[in-house]
Amino acid sequence: MEKDSKIYVAGHTGMVGSALLRKLEKEGFKNVIFRTSSQLDLTNQEAVKNFFKEEKPDYVFLAAAKVGGIMANNTYRADFLYENLMIQNNVIHQSYLNGVKKLLFFASSCIYPKMSPQPIKEDYLLTGKLEDTNEPYAIAKIAGLKMCENYNRQYGCDFISVMPTNLYGPNDNYDPETSHVLPALLRKFHEAKVEDKVSVEVWGSGEPKREFLHVDDLAAACLHLMNTYSGNVSVNIGTGEDLSIKELAEMIKDISGYSGAITWNRSKPDGTPRKLLDVSLIHNLGWRHKIGLEEGLAKVYEEEFLM
Ligand code: GDP
Repeated sequence: MEKDSKIYVAGHTGMVGSALLRKLEKEGFKNVIFRTSSQLDLTNQEAVKNFFKEEKPDYVFLAAAKVGGIMANNTYRADFLYENLMIQNNVIHQSYLNGVKKLLFFASSCIYPKMSPQPIKEDYLLTGKLEDTNEPYAIAKIAGLKMCENYNRQYGCDFISVMPTNLYGPNDNYDPETSHVLPALLRKFHEAKVEDKVSVEVWGSGEPKREFLHVDDLAAACLHLMNTYSGNVSVNIGTGEDLSIKELAEMIKDISGYSGAITWNRSKPDGTPRKLLDVSLIHNLGWRHKIGLEEGLAKVYEEEFLM
């Protein structure tokens, strides 16, 4: 990408899209374009067609998606499938028709088989059954990365995709019902401290293990790949380290300074037992994460709840 290339960030108000905007601005890119969902409904084929015809972006980061935690995925199953398929079909197809030089599509680590061997290598994709709670989202994301691969194969496009692990950072969703575990726990422990509650309820058994990456690290990885990588392998992006939900809860409890008890609500689903990414490919491609979990959590906690 040149500093004056026209770069379209789809989904710029979300956690990933806004991190990309910050990174692109920091790196001196001057021609970055974006639209809010009320200005441009990405599920609307005609609207997306007109947008691409008028704007003719050189590069596209496709970070627009319907996303959410385990309860949201499991509750709004049809919406997750429909909206994600529509958004990505429209943006990827119009990128092809309008000669976009390169596109980066965001898939997700939750699209690997539920019982994948750990750590998960890129080629474990489509080798087993998916986790039921997020199957609709996963099916849509698999379709998206296959769109990229097959537009490359049939039409000679340069569309790449990435598999980020669980992310956190500025502009995350803190809604208790629909958020992911990390923002949910930051909020729960913070509120429990402020309101002097005797206990905090955490979902599931605490045994599942998860890997977490600060979204600023993800944005750096994506710019690096946009500038250096072409290919049909959807590249894992993570830290290569995970911890149990119990350990995460203890860590967040410490950061928030809460001193009460933790109770476990086992009626809520655990989801996939473990999803640790094998990050040797991205390390070989010349990127590794910089922000450790404790450091990142402390920063996000301060920015979100103490400022
Ligand atoms: P997942 O990684 O797709 O399973 O999505 P989540 O981030 O929503 O959940 C990860 C794990 O954290 C699951 O085992 C949840 O049951 C557990 N968890 C514990 N407390 C919470 C909470 O308050 N909210 C969410 N979303 N998950 C929680």
